[in-house]
Amino acid sequence: MITVAQALAAAQALGLDRLDAQWLLSHQLQQGRAWLVAHDDHVLAADQAAAFQAHCLRRADGEPLAYLTGERGFHGLSLQVTPAVLVPRPDTETLVDWALQCAAATDAAPLRLLDMGTGSGAIALALAHALQGRKPTVEITATDFSDTALAVAQGNAQRLGLPVHFVQGAWWHAVPAHERFDLVLSNPPYIRDDDPHLPALRHEPLSALTAGPDGLADLRSIINGAAPHLAAGAWLLLEHGWDQAGAVAALLHNAGFAEVSTRRDIEDRPRCTGGRWHPPK
Ligand code: GLN
Repeated sequence: MITVAQALAAAQALGLDRLDAQWLLSHQLQQGRAWLVAHDDHVLAADQAAAFQAHCLRRADGEPLAYLTGERGFHGLSLQVTPAVLVPRPDTETLVDWALQCAAATDAAPLRLLDMGTGSGAIALALAHALQGRKPTVEITATDFSDTALAVAQGNAQRLGLPVHFVQGAWWHAVPAHERFDLVLSNPPYIRDDDPHLPALRHEPLSALTAGPDGLADLRSIINGAAPHLAAGAWLLLEHGWDQAGAVAALLHNAGFAEVSTRRDIEDRPRCTGGRWHPPK
């Protein structure tokens, strides 16, 4: 027999944060955190206690909380996530907010939007949600190389009732040759193959994290392949590592982009760089 208070104490003894332990126990008992605080001496059923302990051991081994609870909040939406997709990060909300400012600054009708390497669908769905009811309308396409990731994204779109068109394929290969967009975003893999922080991310899909010896392989493919798919005046906005802003800005300049600028994430690190496409006359 184990009570709520004892279960939380046992989780902390395994090394879990108090907050993580509370989230996991709330998820197990299907009760809010306020309920837990008020029911310290509630006794857990044996199967609940066992399932909670198993989750605590996985969390202590570094598994993201989102994979254990199966959900993660992003830009005001609750998304379902599995180990087939990167866990959405608050850093990426910077990219969404920037895109919303671009969307407000154009009268493209319809506004054709593309999220490349969508994973859980976080970026595309946050935009679909925020731009619901926009006039002129928005058409959102999201791609991913991974079928299992696309299935997660599609499930999220269905559950949230948000209209996004999903296509499978690697970067621009996913998009028909003649198709052009007004606003393209991506949070691609950008970590160096030998980055010392990778072991801490070992529960997430490596293909969503690493991009060659300098971490820029996918950013290069996206930037260098963009021109045929961009309408006049289109924006290309990209997330990158905290030390890659200069390299991404240089890639954009070399590919002929104008108005290149960088935005900082909520921890004040340079996190997104983008530019605008004005076709050569
Ligand atoms: N921002 C993630 C991290 O550093 C990486 C995401 C990515 O490669 N796009 O943990």
